[in-house]
Amino acid sequence: MIPISRVKVDEATEVLVLDVLRSGQLAQGPMVARFEALCAEMAGTKHAVAVNNGTTALELALQALGVGPGDEVITTPFTFAATINAIVHSGASVRFADVTADYTIDPAGIEAAITPRTKAIMPVHLYGLPSDMKSISAIAERHRLLIIEDAAQSHGATIDGVPVGGYGLACFSFYATKNLSTGEGGAVTTNDDSLAARMRVLRNQGMKARYEYEMPGHNYRMMDLVAALAISQFAQREAMEQRRRGNAERLSKGLSDIAALDLPFEPEGRRSVWHQYTVSLRPEAGMSRDEFVAALHAKDVGAGVYYPKAAYDYDCYRHHPLVQVEPCPMSEAFASSVVSLPVHQHLTDDEVDIIVAVTREVLGC
Ligand SMILES: *Cc1c(COP(=O)(O)O)cnc(C)c1O
Repeated sequence: MIPISRVKVDEATEVLVLDVLRSGQLAQGPMVARFEALCAEMAGTKHAVAVNNGTTALELALQALGVGPGDEVITTPFTFAATINAIVHSGASVRFADVTADYTIDPAGIEAAITPRTKAIMPVHLYGLPSDMKSISAIAERHRLLIIEDAAQSHGATIDGVPVGGYGLACFSFYATKNLSTGEGGAVTTNDDSLAARMRVLRNQGMKARYEYEMPGHNYRMMDLVAALAISQFAQREAMEQRRRGNAERLSKGLSDIAALDLPFEPEGRRSVWHQYTVSLRPEAGMSRDEFVAALHAKDVGAGVYYPKAAYDYDCYRHHPLVQVEPCPMSEAFASSVVSLPVHQHLTDDEVDIIVAVTREVLGC
């Protein structure tokens, strides 16, 4: 099976992790500080605050901005449940705007969903592709709304050469299968000094100095042991991205003439880091998405489905008092038609060619 993601730990990382083990400093310390400096550098921001996962990064950002009961946050239903869970747990209501053909949130849909209670917009840079942040920032400015980027899948993705992560607060995940990973991990980036300071306090029980509590906080801290896992990946980031981009181009070249597939694309100025290479199956295929995936699996191509339903299409959200269900036809159509093919940096050219050949065979092209 050619897997959809592959986790490899290099020798430099083994050495660094062993150093941390032997240092006796396992909890948050100097290695987390190093990790934060590298995150801020990647996002082009003044600050990065490390936390224990991407979901707590979203929760921390919402709390630092004072988003809570009575507020509304606009996001897309074509995302991972964590986006929705973080908003619901803040006490704010979730409102949805649909996505466009590039799978990211539609700025026009955001405008349509704004009410007097709207406090923030949470665009999701899905599959590694930045959302249309130029339009979204203009809307946020016009309506005085906060921006929290869900950048869990888009480490280092750029818009006109500028990395995502600096439009307000931005939340990254370092879960095992993300482009950069520590197994579990997260970070919030920002250029705002006071928000960064507030998040550092909130992440550590609300303590400013030892046993001096400024506010009721949390324990969202990352371990030094965990931070050490990512350090060497930052140095290899460009090579990893190039490799993913090359694989994406090779897949597109091999699949471009197939009428039954819509291929992923990068709108003008927005560069993906190819967390996923996601095609959409058209009716011309003459089979369902699930049949297509099963046929790929039967021939050892580890295709994935992200995500099989619009976020509001689960009972626990559909009937939740804080979730406003607004039909989003594009999101629903994608939920039943998308398939992600392996694109990660550990694939060989031969494996990419096999993915193309198997996909063509399954579709009878
Ligand atoms: C992975 C992910 C998250 C949550 O990150 P965790 O580290 O798994 O908590 C949030 N949003 C999106 C879009 C993700 O892909």
